[in-house]
Amino acid sequence: MGPFDWLPHAPLELLQLDWLNGVEVAVLRLDCIDPLISGNKWFKLTQHLADAQAAGARGVISLGGAHSNHLHALAAAGKRFGFPTVGLLRGHPQDTPTVLDLKAFGMQLHWLGYGGYRARHAADFWLPWHAQYPQLYPVPEGGGGMAGALGCAVLVDQVRAQLNTLGWADYDAWWLAAGTGTTLAGLTLAEAGAHAVFGAMAVPDDHGVAQNVQAIVQQGYELVDASRGGFAKVDPLLLEFMHATEQASGLPLEPLYTAKALLALKQQLEAGRFPPGTRLIFVHTGGLQGRRGFTA
Ligand SMILES: *Cc1c(COP(=O)(O)O)cnc(C)c1O
Repeated sequence: MGPFDWLPHAPLELLQLDWLNGVEVAVLRLDCIDPLISGNKWFKLTQHLADAQAAGARGVISLGGAHSNHLHALAAAGKRFGFPTVGLLRGHPQDTPTVLDLKAFGMQLHWLGYGGYRARHAADFWLPWHAQYPQLYPVPEGGGGMAGALGCAVLVDQVRAQLNTLGWADYDAWWLAAGTGTTLAGLTLAEAGAHAVFGAMAVPDDHGVAQNVQAIVQQGYELVDASRGGFAKVDPLLLEFMHATEQASGLPLEPLYTAKALLALKQQLEAGRFPPGTRLIFVHTGGLQGRRGFTA
């Protein structure tokens, strides 16, 4: 694998919505960094790819579901930068829009079923895959862990470098969707207490988000439930909110992360969580490719 000196630029834009009630929100558009490699998943991958390269690996093996934004970004990066990728998939063979892209990007796929996928945290899970692909570097689900968090730290610099384009001298806090909490942990590490980081949890409390984050950073963040009954659970109020917000702001959203995070923000503003004049950075974490699985 060659070096990865591609550091895409995420634009920062003001969000115009009538429910902000005097709170100012700027969106860091990770959905806009590239036509194919989108969202927080690229930033989470950068340190893993550097580690793979340092380890002398030829390519990368990782795992995810049939709509996985992580596998999508990894497969697109493999195609772009010319290294082989292998994806271990949850469930049984199916051709979702995401899976068709993975194949088109040249990712080699293995379907693990549901039981096989559940075993992914077992100590010996990687042994047979390492035997089959000794030259590939294993990256955990979603590109998580300390390496994933470190790759997101650069987002703090990108925001600070663009504040003047908004006429802002500073901001008060971050607001973003959390799945594993890795992106949140990376921002929190980089902020080192300078600004609070709020994670709108797209998964229920018992999914170990707090433990994941604690393993990386101990303070400087707060988790808020945004899951609406479960990961990937979509209800009419959420969809109505998503469509109305897209129409009013021009910001494209998907239901599982970004729309849930914004809806949770709206509810917090209604509850008086942030006084007027508060300046928030909302991270658009991407994921729009996964939305095709819902509209299809
Ligand atoms: C994966 C993902 C997240 C969650 O990121 P974590 O680092 O796991 O918390 C949020 N939004 C989108 C669109 C994602 O694809």
